[in-house]
Amino acid sequence: MKTCSSCGSGTNDYVTFKCPSCGKETVIRCAACRKNNTRYICKCGFRGP
Ligand SMILES: [Zn+2]
Ligand SMILES: [Zn+2]
Repeated sequence: MKTCSSCGSGTNDYVTFKCPSCGKETVIRCAACRKNNTRYICKCGFRGP
């Protein structure tokens, strides 16, 4: 179980990827947010779809 970076919910169906801006933080997105293209905000301040 991971916490989605977009909606903050716990999820077992998610993808993880590195922030394209800082390349350090790992962004976690649940299936619902992926589908809805919900924005995520990285710790570095980057916001992306
Ligand atoms: Zn989510
Ligand atoms: Zn970042």
